[in-house]
Amino acid sequence: MILVTGGAGYIGSHTNKALNKVGYDTVVLDNLEKGYESFVKWGEFVNDDIGSKSIESIFKNNDIDAVMHFAAFSSVAESVEQPQKYLKNNYKNTLNLLQMMREYGVDKFIFSSTAAVYGNPESIPITENQELKPINPYGHSKFITEKALEREAEKGDFNYVSLRYFNAAGCDFDCEVGELHDPETHLIPLVLDAASGIRDSISIFGTDYDTPDGTCIRDYIHVNDLADAHIKAYEYLKDGNSSEVFNLGNGQGYSVKEVIDTCKKVTGKDFKVNLDERREGDPGILIADSSKINEKLGWSPKYDLETIIDSAWKWHEKINGI
Ligand code: UDP
Repeated sequence: MILVTGGAGYIGSHTNKALNKVGYDTVVLDNLEKGYESFVKWGEFVNDDIGSKSIESIFKNNDIDAVMHFAAFSSVAESVEQPQKYLKNNYKNTLNLLQMMREYGVDKFIFSSTAAVYGNPESIPITENQELKPINPYGHSKFITEKALEREAEKGDFNYVSLRYFNAAGCDFDCEVGELHDPETHLIPLVLDAASGIRDSISIFGTDYDTPDGTCIRDYIHVNDLADAHIKAYEYLKDGNSSEVFNLGNGQGYSVKEVIDTCKKVTGKDFKVNLDERREGDPGILIADSSKINEKLGWSPKYDLETIIDSAWKWHEKINGI
């Protein structure tokens, strides 16, 4: 049995589906603060908080072999406003989970980390051995959790894989689960809101970055590619391998303007684009070098930006009744 924390959220629900599809049993732990019960269509569901002592019953009642830990807050902008909230949920509450794992002898942990741990990278594409210098509280909360995992692994009888996601995007091709944040802050769903007229425009945050068109460059990776990486990471630990940290990205960067243009092409809709100020805490360019996970786990991404946006558009049409 695999414990999937945050399995009612965006990446967690897609991974929970993928795990069940290949035959793994799961129990989903989610407090539904950001997640949706309707996204838990596979496995058992426990409505509780990762920081609560009561999650002990999950370990008592199930034969947990590994934990995939998605439950976290993930908005850079919110973390700048409320840093304590991010440290408490993303860092401190993870320690509670690690303590439970120790008590019940669960020794495999797959962690949702982020490219935000790098801050403004030294060079592009980013390799895992670059210095970690997060520039926002969200990235910092994931950075110190990675450090806690390192210490835990040093103690022995515990191995982890930390997956540093670049920009997770796209949705389940069957539209059984999808991306639904409240409030939405991510670029692609917001652009699609503009395409369908739910919003009257999209704003570009910053046009004076040191990039060819002046807008931020990101590496967008389909959520199903991320899900696949989690399964490979679990199997890697199950085979007795030791702790590792991997980047997860497509290795290709797209500017905010390019993403907007691709959304216009995929949807066939035109809409208003505003040029706005920079958003605090945003590095200019983030592109992954994912060759390490390719070499060690045989993972490679399957989906390109157009497929990502097309899948997100189909989900958008479904939930908005278009
Ligand atoms: N962005 C933007 N307008 C928006 C939302 C995001 O220009 O309404 C930009 C943001 O500044 C960043 C990129 O789009 O450069 C991706 O942002 P997102 O919040 O999707 O992911 P992040 O990179 O912050 O994890």
